[in-house]
Amino acid sequence: MELPSWQDKEKNGSMIRAALWLECEVGEGNIFRKSQLRAAFPDVAQIDRRIRDLRDYGWQIDTHREDERLLLDEQRYAKKGAEVWIPGQKRANAKARAGLSAVQRSRIMDGDDHLCRSCGISAGEPYPDGQDAQLDVARRRVILEDGSEEVQFVTECNRCRIGGKGRLDDVGALIEAARSLTHLEQGAILEWMAAGQRTLGPAEEVWGRYRALPEESRKAVQQALTEDQD
Ligand SMILES: [Zn+2]
Repeated sequence: MELPSWQDKEKNGSMIRAALWLECEVGEGNIFRKSQLRAAFPDVAQIDRRIRDLRDYGWQIDTHREDERLLLDEQRYAKKGAEVWIPGQKRANAKARAGLSAVQRSRIMDGDDHLCRSCGISAGEPYPDGQDAQLDVARRRVILEDGSEEVQFVTECNRCRIGGKGRLDDVGALIEAARSLTHLEQGAILEWMAAGQRTLGPAEEVWGRYRALPEESRKAVQQALTEDQD
C-alpha cells in the first residue's frame, strides 16, 4: 500500500505527518538532525514533541541519551511503531495511551493482589520512613518471547512508579533463564507462582532452622552434611 503524503496538511495532523516523514524521508535505522526536521515542518511549532508522541505508539526514536554514538542534535529513527496514519491503528493504541477506566484499574490491581509488584508493599502499609504507600497502575515496557515490545500495566507503589520510569522487562530472557534452571528449581518456582508468594521449600526450611541454632549446633549440622558429601 502506498503511504499518504507527509506534506498533506489537510488530511493528517502533525504527529501523523511526522511519522510519514520518518518513513518516507529518513527510513528506519537512519539518523536525522533536528534542523532537518524543523525545515520539513516550518509550520509546526512543536514538531520535536510530535516526534516524541510517536513513542506512545511503539515508535523508537533514539537521542544521544539512548544512543551515545549520536550527536546532540541528532536522533535516530530506530524502529517503526504502529501505522498511525491508518485510523484503526491509531485508535487501538490511543486506548492504551489514554487513562484507564476505574474498572480496568481495579481489575489490574486485583490481578496483582493489591501489592506493589516491584517492592511488595501493600496499600496503606508504611515505608521504613513512616510514610504510607499508595498503589496505582503503571505502564511497563516488556519484550515478549517473540522479541516484540509492548506496554503492559502493572500495580506499583508511588515510589517504585517514579523510580521505574523507562524500565524495560525482557520476558523472553526471563523465560529462557527459568528454563535453564534444574527441574527441581523449576518445580519450586511453579509452586511460588501458584501460591503468589515465595513459600519455603525443604531446603529453605532446613536453612531457617539451621541459622537459628547456637554456633556449636550449627557446626554439628554442617559437619554431618559435609561428611555425607564425601
Ligand atoms: Zn513499590
